[in-house]
Amino acid sequence: MTQAPLSAAAHLERLVGFKTISSASNLDLLDWVEDYLTPLQARFRRFPNEAGDKANLLVSIGPEEPGGIVLSGHTDVVPVDGQDWLDDPFRLRARDGRLIGRGAVDMKGFIACCLAVAPDLAAMKLRRPIHLALSYDEEVGCTGVGPMAEWIGRSEARPSFAIIGEPSRMRLINAHKGGLIGWAHVTGKAGHSSQPDRYVNAVMVAAELIACINRIREDMRAGPQIQEFDPPYSTIQVNQIVGGSHGNIVAESCRFFWEMRVVPGVDDRAIFQQIERYAREVLEPEMKKVDPACGIRFDIVARIPALLPAMRNWKPKSLPSSATPSPKLFPMGRRPGFSRMPGCGPSSAGRAISLRPTSPRSMSRRASLPAAETSCSGSVDPLVLARIQRRALSRSRTARRATLGSRPLGQGASYNVSSAADPVTLE
Ligand SMILES: [Zn+2]
Repeated sequence: MTQAPLSAAAHLERLVGFKTISSASNLDLLDWVEDYLTPLQARFRRFPNEAGDKANLLVSIGPEEPGGIVLSGHTDVVPVDGQDWLDDPFRLRARDGRLIGRGAVDMKGFIACCLAVAPDLAAMKLRRPIHLALSYDEEVGCTGVGPMAEWIGRSEARPSFAIIGEPSRMRLINAHKGGLIGWAHVTGKAGHSSQPDRYVNAVMVAAELIACINRIREDMRAGPQIQEFDPPYSTIQVNQIVGGSHGNIVAESCRFFWEMRVVPGVDDRAIFQQIERYAREVLEPEMKKVDPACGIRFDIVARIPALLPAMRNWKPKSLPSSATPSPKLFPMGRRPGFSRMPGCGPSSAGRAISLRPTSPRSMSRRASLPAAETSCSGSVDPLVLARIQRRALSRSRTARRATLGSRPLGQGASYNVSSAADPVTLE
């Protein structure tokens, strides 16, 4: 059966119609993508989550050969609750030459463009495959893509590079800060507020811990800097806090969400240990004097190794004319697993997208882009780093002909998540 090709706009209309907020399933969307691509002799591999209600989908078009290109996009979108939408956010509409809907830019627009050119790609005599990598739970800490990226890293697929369709106003983003995010839970002892010394006020303890984080933040300003980042130094902050039950009850519990974004070379884990040490050595002993059950617990939600291009002055030669021809650094990792590969985005987050599907020809042009040598920071697993370096060495021996983003697989395998979804946006 021959599938009638759809335009990118038509694809986008359908994709936006799937309410794939990160808390919801994305399986209907994946089913639809599979149905559309099955007649093209595409090959599919799913990577479901534990609950079985979400999955990554890897679609391969073309020969089963090593190499080729990964086109990567996340299927989930941020929530719409409490936002002042003029119309149904899950119904794509056109206004002033733009297409508007939740996720139209970030990043169903890119997926729509990929699907629009898929029939042309399937009809070409590709010498290397095109892989479309669709992930879930990107918007809640980049926690979904890991298994798919790791599988690609272990497989024989060995894609040469990836294009991540995150919004970037068509600037090439080939470096980003690393990230470490998580919750701190403070357990105190409740009692009447007229007797604060008999109890442990979790809110007050949390405030001291946050003050410690704030001191670290001040230190970071004077720490290592890479001028291409904005800001050029590492950052840490607390953006969400919940605690206490009543104005005259000593707070029994308090939790807050912290996030750290570090420039390549800064050891995020060492900074975290600094915070944890303050909790264990300074705060907890005083709490436990009142009640041993009191204490502080940290839950790390996600960790994203930083990326810095080894060839800082590398400039792409074959980007589309609409792309800004200078690599740009991004303050936070996107799409871990694949994000350590350079990529271009169609537009900018929060803006409506002006669709201009990439032609198969321009994709094949991209396949011949020169190498953007990249290397991970010291936070990468040493075994993974060794594999990356071995791969880099063998590549350099083959006339240094590596294509755009020469470290995709190992970096994908280095992705490290300690727990699943959490309602936080990393971008
Ligand atoms: Zn995104």
